[in-house]
Formats: sequence, C-alpha cells, structure tokens
Amino acid sequence: MDCLFCKIVRGEIPSKKIYEDEHTYAFEDIDPKAPTHVLIVPKKHIVGLKEASPEDAEIIGRCHLTAAHIGKQRGIENGYRTVLNVGPDSGQSVFHMHVHLLGGRKLTWPPG
Ligand code: 5GP
Ligand code: ZN
Repeated sequence: MDCLFCKIVRGEIPSKKIYEDEHTYAFEDIDPKAPTHVLIVPKKHIVGLKEASPEDAEIIGRCHLTAAHIGKQRGIENGYRTVLNVGPDSGQSVFHMHVHLLGGRKLTWPPG
C-alpha cells in the first residue's frame, strides 16, 4: 500500500526502530518534539482513530501497551504522554494511525 508508515513497517523506507512485535512497530519520530519522541504504529493499516472499527480495539490497546513498555525501558515513567492526533485540525499529517510517545522533559498542560 502507498502509505508512508506501511512502507516504514515493511522496511522500504528506513527508520530508527525502537521496538517491534507481531502487531506493532515503534520508531523515532524524524522531527522530535521531546527528548523521547517515538511513534508506535499498528502493522495493520488503520487510517486513524475515527476510522477504526470495534475489531481494531485490541490493536489500539496494544499500541498503548507498546508505548508503556518503551516508557519503562527509557526510564521516563516520572511523566510521559501518549497522543493520538485525529483529523486535520489536530495536526494529523500521516493517515496511518500512530501513537506519539513524548517524554524526557516536563510536559505542559493543556497541549496546544
Ligand atoms: P501526526 O502529525 O500525523 O500526528 O504525526 C506524524 C509524525 O510523523 C510527525 O511527528 C512527523 O515528524 C513524523 N514523520 C513524518 N514523516 C516521517 C518519516 O518519514 N519518518 C519518521 N521517522 N517520522 C516521520
Ligand atoms: Zn499504512
């Protein structure tokens, strides 16, 4: 499929891989907004959260558990954030669902 993150999952576009299992793939964001800025994607192509169906519930959960695993591995459990941008007004620019894992610095609330 002609999708940037599908190509990254397949290794057709290089990425700095952090973690991979049967269902999820995690890699460094190319334009990091925090000392840790990792993207976690389902290997299955899902456009975004609002396009997800009930059968995607498990994989959406798995992406978050992968984020928690990486947060622990990175030693940033004092405070990190998982973010799903949904739709153009949120800044979603890649239409293959992904969880941002941001941490390693003090995070402000609310996000912009
Ligand atoms: P969104 O704005 O859709 O929530 O997030 C897309 C993210 O993907 C952005 O943070 C952007 O920096 C990142 N990104 C876009 N293209 C690439 C790429 O080719 N490689 C990597 N590693 N990250 C990318
Ligand atoms: Zn895709």
